[in-house]
Amino acid sequence: MKLLLLLFMSPLLVITALQNTDGSTINQSLSYIKNSTQNSKKSVLVFSATRGFRHASIPDGIKALQKIAARNNWELTATEDSSIFNNETLKKFHAIVLLNTTGNVFGKNEEAALQQYIQHGGGIAGIHAAADCEYDWPWYNQLIGGYFESHPAIQSATIHIKERHPATAHLGSSWIHKDEWYNYKSLSPAINVLLELDEKSYQGGKMGHSHPIAWYQDFDGGKMFYTGLGHTSEAYQDEKFLMHVENGIREVMKK
Ligand SMILES: [Zn+2]
Repeated sequence: MKLLLLLFMSPLLVITALQNTDGSTINQSLSYIKNSTQNSKKSVLVFSATRGFRHASIPDGIKALQKIAARNNWELTATEDSSIFNNETLKKFHAIVLLNTTGNVFGKNEEAALQQYIQHGGGIAGIHAAADCEYDWPWYNQLIGGYFESHPAIQSATIHIKERHPATAHLGSSWIHKDEWYNYKSLSPAINVLLELDEKSYQGGKMGHSHPIAWYQDFDGGKMFYTGLGHTSEAYQDEKFLMHVENGIREVMKK
């Protein structure tokens, strides 16, 4: 009972109360306080390995995500070592960001670990080439929601905001942005579209009147967010894009 009361008291009261308890209770209480502080900090894994095209903007993307993590008090781990995809290590992350990953970046066991992570309520945010990755893994296709098909030259385009969501709330009803605009194949019918490209506003769109460029879904026990933006280094200096990414990541985080 005394321990329970301690847990709900302010830190000052806890210290006062601890003076009246024996050593073991103090240790238990202190370790509870320590754990609860650690648990309140969200951990984010940024993975940017490439086995195909390598985006020159990856270091800028990591820097921008570090800035986002700092202002949210998230603990950020950035790596290109796929061995981090094991059940024990993934467990500690509240969200995984796939930053411009390309090609077959995961081994079989690593795929199984990512699958288990999602099935246990994990969250994943894919940026741009996260859709240009793992083409021979149908589960990944469903998770990310589509595969890269082609792209025209980098140019400005008009984006229409299709759904009010934390990742789009700051954007108004349309947004003009310069990027490398992906056409997609194998789009999942389960995705909820956040942003749609206006193909009349640029050259080289191939998807007709409905061209999703950012979306989210609940999938296989977890949550995912994907944005097709994020090819250029300039994007990672663009506060509108960074807020889109930041709020997209926050939405998929394990509580
Ligand atoms: Zn690109």
